[in-house]
Amino acid sequence: MQPTTEPRDAILVEKTPLETYVPPAKPSLIGLSRTELADRLGEIGVQPSQRKMRVQQLWHWLYFRGAQSFDDMTSISKGIRAELAQAFTVDRPEVVAEQISNDGTRKWLLRLPSGDDVQKAHEVECVYIPETDRGTLCVSSQVGCTLNCSFCHTGTQRLVRNLTAGEIVGQIMVARDRLNDWADREDGTRRVTNIVMMGMGEPLYNFDAVRDALLIVGDNEGIGISRRRITLSTSGVVPNIVRAGEEIGVMLAISLHAVRDELRNELVPLNRKYPIKELLQACRDYPGASNARRITFEYVMLKGVNDSLDDAKLLVKLLKGIHAKINLIPFNPWPGTAYECSDWDQIEKFSEYIFNAGYSSPVRTPRGRDILAACGQLKSETEKLSVRERQALRAMAMTD
Ligand code: SAH
Ligand code: SF4
Repeated sequence: MQPTTEPRDAILVEKTPLETYVPPAKPSLIGLSRTELADRLGEIGVQPSQRKMRVQQLWHWLYFRGAQSFDDMTSISKGIRAELAQAFTVDRPEVVAEQISNDGTRKWLLRLPSGDDVQKAHEVECVYIPETDRGTLCVSSQVGCTLNCSFCHTGTQRLVRNLTAGEIVGQIMVARDRLNDWADREDGTRRVTNIVMMGMGEPLYNFDAVRDALLIVGDNEGIGISRRRITLSTSGVVPNIVRAGEEIGVMLAISLHAVRDELRNELVPLNRKYPIKELLQACRDYPGASNARRITFEYVMLKGVNDSLDDAKLLVKLLKGIHAKINLIPFNPWPGTAYECSDWDQIEKFSEYIFNAGYSSPVRTPRGRDILAACGQLKSETEKLSVRERQALRAMAMTD
């Protein structure tokens, strides 16, 4: 969909040209665990007996106070601060554009070094959605996505690389920086209260970095967003679903979108590798799921494709015995897509059927559509993949 309103007034940071990118000269400490921080301190000569205490201080400054330079870390001796600044930074991913939608949604375009060619840059997006009772940050896990779901804009992106734990944690830190949301805000409230791993990429294909990042984000002595307020959304990487419950312990969302394998194979091609039955079994086995901690099933409403009452009936049948809630997502169009969003009265009928069957079935209000910040609209680079390239990527993902 083309923007309905010209968002010019809402551009808070003008996009800088890609050619101006300067890769970081030193590594950032953002995203390191306590053990890794202790190792870095060892590298600059901090004695083993001192390291634990120094790690505590650093952790507090980095993740609780959001310090943006070593100079701010006043409880750490000047000598150590200078040593740290010589070897490291506390840099987050570089914000190269910031847009604010008519409805208050904000989108940041972040620039990151390319993995192999240090002179080149990659870009990812991160979106903040304010609501009355919460503020949700939608975080990316990869540059692009290998999985090419047919209705998703991100899947058409050419570049793909995994983000590091630092780049994932860095997105939350950027949001807190830009929203003035660190611990010392005057009224004591928070703007970013919830995290959803629903930006670009498939989080369970970048398992280790996502796990390490979310453990930092959930740490009580730092960023402190509880695991119940963090949701990881997956298109169905079955072998890593139970692992996510065991090793990360966050809330789970499944991008189901279809109730028959034939259609799901088309919409979410990963279904050919992990069909619906196996996916639902992994959900039944998900540790910690209960009535209070239900698994969200996301279902994008595609006109004439998956939105019939028969689909709704089968959906209810399939989810029997799973602690589930269903989230209906009106399809967000993007330039070049062949899909259309279901009509509102059809969405309502579908939702009503599910509701009457005993499931909570909120329809997700599209947010930030005017700045292409809504679900599945994220894409940091305009090049479209050719059909052959999409097929090659798909095959690559299937053989992982
Ligand atoms: N890769 C993960 C997480 C990112 S996508 C996943 O697929 O679950 C977040 C959600 O947005 C997913 O449910 C995805 O299927 C949905 N989505 C993708 N494109 C969309 C679009 N154009 N309109 C509405 N929802 C979309
Ligand atoms: Fe990737 Fe998720 Fe988009 Fe599918 S819906 S292409 S898994 S980001």
